[in-house]
Amino acid sequence: MNFKDIPAHENVKRQLRDMVADGRVPHALLLHGPAGSGKFMLARVFAQYLHCEHPTSDGEPCGTCPACIQHQTFNHVDTLFVYPVVKTEKLKEPVSDDYIEEFRDFITSSPYMDFDKWASSFEKKNAQPIIYVYESAGLERRLAVSATASKYKIVIMWLPEKMNEQAANKLLKLIEEPYPGTIFILVSNDASAILPTIKSRCRPVEVTRLDDATVAEYLTRRLAMDPQDAMASAHIAGGDINAALRTVDATSVSRMFFDYFVQLMRLAYQRDVKGLKQWSADITSMGREQEVKFYEY
Ligand SMILES: [Zn+2]
Repeated sequence: MNFKDIPAHENVKRQLRDMVADGRVPHALLLHGPAGSGKFMLARVFAQYLHCEHPTSDGEPCGTCPACIQHQTFNHVDTLFVYPVVKTEKLKEPVSDDYIEEFRDFITSSPYMDFDKWASSFEKKNAQPIIYVYESAGLERRLAVSATASKYKIVIMWLPEKMNEQAANKLLKLIEEPYPGTIFILVSNDASAILPTIKSRCRPVEVTRLDDATVAEYLTRRLAMDPQDAMASAHIAGGDINAALRTVDATSVSRMFFDYFVQLMRLAYQRDVKGLKQWSADITSMGREQEVKFYEY
């Protein structure tokens, strides 16, 4: 993925490129703005851009050097991801790496980072993922070793507002006295909920909500939706791509259930027992398919 693949946010892309061009990349950056606007993709492409061996003259990562390939396959050795996770019976001191496979699937299927979808991907019901203090020891250990193949070691932290206090205090130390060549990119949906001492040490970059036309265009392209329907969903979503996807899903599900309801009434009226049995079997299997489909966006 390149900057140009991320819809809108041209001013943010320009600010990020300028930091590199001017040699003023801060050691802690805070990308903040409403959920579902694409901040995490901006963070990922920026990290790739920083690591790229041959960035293009128009300010994009080249996409072909070893660093770019590693980034694109979510395997860059000097890029660490920190994100909220949950405790379980087996995992009493969870860290992000314990869920790395699940996270990789999640960012692929939900590039706009739908937190509710992430929370519901855990086996534990009503899970409230947070960033625990256990994260800090491993992070410190990995940052103490200098970058293997790159100029920078980059930590991308998704939702710093989900850190518990202990974790926040440990992170503060890492940000206050950074290891040389370390860059933190914090990606927040709610900057007001971040510990002020952490926030004050980060360079803030505001990412604004997407306008309705951008959301609608995304829906049309991604889901082959009718442009008018896409615009209607975009209006309801208020700039949040994830909210827009949920509206579309709800609309298509309710339409489908209405069709099934009409069919049921018809079968009942005709006293078609065989047909009713088949209807029931269809509904059962459809429930399972819908469940799968919902997680495939
Ligand atoms: Zn490259």
